[in-house]
Amino acid sequence: MSRGARVCSKRVRDSLIDGRNREHLPAGSRAPQTESAMRRPLFCCDHQEIELPEGHRFPMAKYRLLRLALERDGQYAMVQPRPATREEIEWVHDAAYVEAFLHGTLSAQAIRRIGFPWSESLVKRTLCSVGGTLAAAREALETSYGGVLAGGTHHAFRAEGSGFCVFNDIAVAAKWMLDPKHGGLERVAVVDCDVHQGDGTAQIFEDDARVFTLSLHGRKNFPFRKQRSRMDIELEDGTEDEEYLSDLGAAMDAALTWKPQAIFFQSGVDGLACDTLGRLALTHDGLRRRDRMVLSACREHGIPAVVTLGGGYGRPLEATVEAHANTFRTALDIFGEER
Ligand SMILES: [Zn+2]
Repeated sequence: MSRGARVCSKRVRDSLIDGRNREHLPAGSRAPQTESAMRRPLFCCDHQEIELPEGHRFPMAKYRLLRLALERDGQYAMVQPRPATREEIEWVHDAAYVEAFLHGTLSAQAIRRIGFPWSESLVKRTLCSVGGTLAAAREALETSYGGVLAGGTHHAFRAEGSGFCVFNDIAVAAKWMLDPKHGGLERVAVVDCDVHQGDGTAQIFEDDARVFTLSLHGRKNFPFRKQRSRMDIELEDGTEDEEYLSDLGAAMDAALTWKPQAIFFQSGVDGLACDTLGRLALTHDGLRRRDRMVLSACREHGIPAVVTLGGGYGRPLEATVEAHANTFRTALDIFGEER
């Protein structure tokens, strides 16, 4: 474990003991103290489903199927996180945008850009998803690894949503990590392996020297107007495993040289060959090797890892669910099944 990480986990432990700071932590999301007390928690939000019109192309079912697949494995303790508060959301997002979204007064154009019709269920789900990533971030600082079966909503900008993303959970949790009152870190990296550029995250942190944003994405894919991450790796349509992993290896080396004290891994699996929106040609084995490359680098360097979901729109959907489940299985293999 690197010196930086050891220092920061001591600081977090201290802040957990300190009653004054307890209220600032994403609380209410502890693993149940039963026989599974030593099992790692995995934060999930599929109890808050978004009501979508018949035929909507967003694969809402994948979240429940993914939880069920990992529950069948029996290695994680599934935990419903508390929703993020408005104050937490406003660490990143424009107050007028937050207000309009929470009260359903966004313009029709803003709603179209998000891609979901506004509903109370969308508000609840969105806040739960950000809360899940905050809880996973705290878990990672305490135990080296935290995961959430939601989040990775990387197309959300400071004052507008886009591409099925309302609020940027990774940006909110990165701010929590960097806040001296909370995580107390000085350098955080985002490794975004979704096939679509993490444009919202890139723009939010464009002028923030404390955050290293890395995005590997399809050059010709959405978003068509790219933002500037600290490092962008642009992939051609049809990119296969070996080329992808070679590019990722080089990019990870660069990110590690920067000595991040925590890494957010946006683990979208829409690079899978059968994905309807991905345009790459990765296999399940390639994605497993990708996950191992990112997470074992974190482990070897003593860098806490926060794993969020991301895109995945495969046909059949089961192929996407399997790829997502493999990410969380690989994480247990690397970080250990017990806390
Ligand atoms: Zn995507």
